[in-house]
Amino acid sequence: MTDGDGSCELEPEPEPEFTVFYRLDRQDLVIDIGGRGFAEAIAGQDPDAIRGRIIGTSLFDHVAGHFTRRFLREFLGVARSARVQRRRMYRCDSTTDKIVMEMRATAEADGGVLLEHREVTSQPLSIPVPLAFAKTWKTANARRCSMCNRLQARGATQWVEPDAFVAGGASPIVIHTVCQACRVVRGEAKMKSVRDLHAASLLTDTASTRLRERSRS
Ligand SMILES: [Zn+2]
Repeated sequence: MTDGDGSCELEPEPEPEFTVFYRLDRQDLVIDIGGRGFAEAIAGQDPDAIRGRIIGTSLFDHVAGHFTRRFLREFLGVARSARVQRRRMYRCDSTTDKIVMEMRATAEADGGVLLEHREVTSQPLSIPVPLAFAKTWKTANARRCSMCNRLQARGATQWVEPDAFVAGGASPIVIHTVCQACRVVRGEAKMKSVRDLHAASLLTDTASTRLRERSRS
């Protein structure tokens, strides 16, 4: 299970190769950022400069999309109020790979939270999916779910896998949201397995995702 009981873990587990963490104060201001994947994620930029730009800002300054922000607020809220570790799988694809990540929120002292993004698995997309990001819905042609990375074309009801979307020749220009199926924080029944996430990419325009735009050539 990925998110199920929300219990704290007791036994240590190996650190994945790619992790980025944000340490937040009670008001969601970033007080630290780092992790094993941090240097890789910022792809050659100066880590101190990036840290300096992010520390002291609100996490939500780096999260695009109303529903994505709402989801994240609720996710952090559950971890804080229950004082447990919450976990949630999501997709955070690169242009060429399906990447399954796990987001963990762990309550800390004084209302703080440690928010971690950990890579679980990755596999190549059937074809590359170059995305352009629109600032508003007006200039977009599709919505992208921040949790499962599926795309919904303007006027369509179906959410489709990104590689299926571009296979028809479309070039996605997206805004971010959270699809209906993924808008569940408390009821974990719809929790997706890694396989579901593969078969079928929070935070897609968050700092974490921008940080994750690494080259996988
Ligand atoms: Zn979704």
